Amino acid sequence: MRILVSGAGVAGLSAGIDLARAGHEVEIVERANHLRVNGSPIDVRGAAVETARSMGILDAVHEHRITMTERTEFVDRSGATVAPLVRQEIDESPEDIEIPREDLMNILRQALPEQVDLRFEESVVTLADDGSRVAVTFASGREAAYDVVVGADGVHSAVRRLVFGPEKEFTEHLGMYVAIGEAPGQAIPGNRTTEVLNLPGRMAGVARYRDKALALFEFRSEPLDYDHHDLAAQKRILAEAFAGIEDWKVPELVEAAQDDPELYFDAIAQIHLPTWHRGRVVLIGDAAHCATSMAGRGTSLALLGAWTLTEELGRHGDDLEAAFSGYEQRRRPHAAAAQEFASVGADLVLPATWEAIEARNTRLRAAQPR
Ligand SMILES: Cc1cc2nc3c(=O)[nH]c(=O)nc-3n(C[C@H](O)[C@H](O)[C@H](O)COP(=O)(O)OP(=O)(O)OC[C@H]3O[C@@H](n4cnc5c(N)ncnc54)[C@H](O)[C@@H]3O)c2cc1C
Repeated sequence: MRILVSGAGVAGLSAGIDLARAGHEVEIVERANHLRVNGSPIDVRGAAVETARSMGILDAVHEHRITMTERTEFVDRSGATVAPLVRQEIDESPEDIEIPREDLMNILRQALPEQVDLRFEESVVTLADDGSRVAVTFASGREAAYDVVVGADGVHSAVRRLVFGPEKEFTEHLGMYVAIGEAPGQAIPGNRTTEVLNLPGRMAGVARYRDKALALFEFRSEPLDYDHHDLAAQKRILAEAFAGIEDWKVPELVEAAQDDPELYFDAIAQIHLPTWHRGRVVLIGDAAHCATSMAGRGTSLALLGAWTLTEELGRHGDDLEAAFSGYEQRRRPHAAAAQEFASVGADLVLPATWEAIEARNTRLRAAQPR
């Protein structure tokens, strides 16, 4: 089949690898002019480890693994450690692998079969499914037709909007925002500690791995009205959320984020859809079921989703309805479980009150291995 994949994130690149190896003709379009590899380290968890093995990338993933979260310390306003976060709190199994997002993205890029047509600065503008093909027009003005369109274009998916309806119909805002930027001034050779300061409804931290440092922020807020493509607006919102906070390294971290041309900023919002497919169009990854960074499972779900979709297409051939339903039936329980886990993550990382911060710290101190 001739398949269009919208989005070259973890889900889109994985789909490109799996579908092309299964013999399909695959084109991937990515809106950005380069692979968006930034972000904080992410986790390949549970069944996704096996999928990585089946995709032939597990050795490379192991080679690039880091153990950042093992050394997370919650600090107080002066920077003194008040509680450690032990990794067992969040892992599914000891086989879980933490890896910088940029490394996983580069591994996937390298694994992409040569025949996959990966086009940057391109995105879908219209989709018309006549039952036998999907006619697509692109932002570049190009027109083409495909047997299947896979929406792997993330939480703000254009494919979802064009085929299923406006984003707000499927978005559950969890009342929080996240920002992650590079903080080169915070890197300390040989130091791999991640430090996190919580104030009620605010979190600022620095994550260090290899020779890098990242500034991490989360804050609680009602949904804010801004254009999610507008980086200057995102930086302004971040600066306002932390304005007047002089504790610890917060001002330096905010300043570093302001200087990062690739700052990652988004609402922490989940996607809930009654179905992930319609006609010849199917959604995978965050486009279908974003669970948010609070769940820590988006990458694993993306790897597994692409793999399962490819398997089901192989099993059902031309019967797309059967293939897409099979994919959805197999993946939906896992996506739902991850979405539920997000509230646990939020209580852990972003407590809303001083009492909740203290209760979290007390619990973590008690859980520390002796
Ligand atoms: C830059 C970036 C940084 C991130 N950092 C973190 C992090 O630090 N921690 C974390 O837990 N999660 C992070 N995420 C989210 C995480 O990558 C996903 O939850 C998970 O990997 C699932 O991936 P996905 O491929 O479904 O979605 P995404 O990773 O969001 O990938 C979607 C891709 O589609 C592209 N795209 C969007 N719209 C269009 C369009 N209209 N046409 C074509 N392409 C389009 C995007 O540019 C992106 O490359 C980040 C995502 C991005 C894009």
